[in-house]
Amino acid sequence: MAEGPLVHRYTERIKRIAQGKKVTVKFLVKKLKGYNENFHQVVLIRVEAFGKQFRFYFSNKKIVIVHLMMWGYWKFYKRGENWDKPLSKAKMIIHCEDNEIVLFSAPVLKVFDEEEFITSKYNTLGPDPLRPDFSKEKFLSNLLSNPEMEIGEALIRQDIIAGIGNILRIEILFNAKIHPRRKIKDIDDRKLDKLVYWILKLPSDWFFYPSGRKKKFQIYRKAGRPCPRCGTTIEFFRQAGRITYACPQCQK
Ligand SMILES: [Zn+2]
Repeated sequence: MAEGPLVHRYTERIKRIAQGKKVTVKFLVKKLKGYNENFHQVVLIRVEAFGKQFRFYFSNKKIVIVHLMMWGYWKFYKRGENWDKPLSKAKMIIHCEDNEIVLFSAPVLKVFDEEEFITSKYNTLGPDPLRPDFSKEKFLSNLLSNPEMEIGEALIRQDIIAGIGNILRIEILFNAKIHPRRKIKDIDDRKLDKLVYWILKLPSDWFFYPSGRKKKFQIYRKAGRPCPRCGTTIEFFRQAGRITYACPQCQK
C-alpha cells in the first residue's frame, strides 16, 4: 500500500530518469488512448509527489495525475528489456531515451488541462509533511476546524493532511501518545505539538528507510500483544473504515 513516503520515493526515482527530458507517453487505458498523439515527444517539465498523489507536468500543458491506491505500482526498465509483469496490467508507459517507466494496476490515472486541474477535486489536498511547503499552521487550522472529529479519522483525511495512510496514522498516534478516539477539541496544545513532531518525523524516517529492508512496526497488526511501552494489551477497532490499533493505557 502506498502511503506518502513511498510515493515520494518513486517520485525521486522518476525525477532522476525523466524530469526535464523529452519523453513519449503511451496511455493503455481505453478512455485515455485519444491523448496518445498529444504526448509524442513532450518534455516532462516536472514531476512531484503531493501526499499519495503523483503530478506530472508536461510541455503540452497537460497534467497527469496518478494515484496507486492499494494495488498500483511503478516498474523501471531499460529500453528493450523484457518486462517481468504482464502488459495487460500496464496503464501508462513513459518512454525515455534509455528507459521505460511503467505504471501498473493504478486505479486513478487522469489527464487535465492546467486550468481544469486547479478547480478539480484532485487539487484539494491538505499540507504534506514530506514537502518543503508543509505548513504547521495550515495543518492545525484544518484540524481545529473539525473539533468534533476523532483524531484517528482526521489523520487519514487527505484534505486535512496529505500522505498519511492507515499504518502511519496508527504509529504516529502511538508515538504521540494520543488515543485515536480522542476528539480534536480535547487535545491540548502540548499534545498537538507532539503530534506535529511525529507527523514530520515518521514519514521522513520511512522515506529514508533502506529499500529492501522490511519495516518494523510498533503496534500495527499487534492486537492482543503487549504494548512495547507499558505492557498493556494492544486493542484494535474499526475507525473511518479501516482497522486501527492503540494502547488503551498510554495513549490518552
Ligand atoms: Zn502502552
